[in-house]
Amino acid sequence: AMIKKASFVISNTDYKKCPAPVMPEFAFIGRSNVGKSSLVNMLTNNKNLAKTSGKPGKTQLINHFLINDNWYLVDLPGYGFAKVSKSIQSTWEKMISDYLIHRENLVAVCVLIDSRLDPQKIDIEFITWCGEQGIPFVLIFTKSDKQGKQKTSANVRKFLDSCLEIFGDEPQYYVTSAQTGEGKEELLAFIGEEVEE
Ligand code: GDP
Repeated sequence: AMIKKASFVISNTDYKKCPAPVMPEFAFIGRSNVGKSSLVNMLTNNKNLAKTSGKPGKTQLINHFLINDNWYLVDLPGYGFAKVSKSIQSTWEKMISDYLIHRENLVAVCVLIDSRLDPQKIDIEFITWCGEQGIPFVLIFTKSDKQGKQKTSANVRKFLDSCLEIFGDEPQYYVTSAQTGEGKEELLAFIGEEVEE
């Protein structure tokens, strides 16, 4: 599954104003600086579709991109400034949680995890919340090229072990690098399964 066409559609703060939910949708989220913009640009073969964040926390919007005229890619703001917890307080949390809970064409939220790090509390809290809400998610480990394969595997293993403890099973996951293109085909194949050609 290749991406032949990708274009920006609209940015919103309110899920109700998002495009009509007539096509499958995949949302991308993660801590600021996790490599989300780089991954989106890698997937879409476009160097500047998503803005790589020189200034973290700048894009506090729900950004819709139309891909191949048959699915939506959604770039969600990085979390890491606002904390996702049970008491949903900030505007950011309300915007994102409303979107994730109510968006009827959302197939899965792709949660980006920095493969260089031990499991981070905020990532664990976020996926725990997704689990509680019944929001389907997959994990995308980023920046796999930044360290040796063994270190990447060890960090992935640690994160999956945390998931095992919380959920009793391992979520679907992909190991990726925007630098080398690792994981690109696999991730696009996953998306392709849910998208009508
Ligand atoms: P965002 O804030 O999540 O959108 O993160 P960016 O995509 O802006 O990436 C943050 C920093 O990490 C930038 O300096 C990127 O060049 C770098 N980066 C992102 N992905 C990769 C990757 O796969 N490999 C390497 N080596 N660097 C990456």
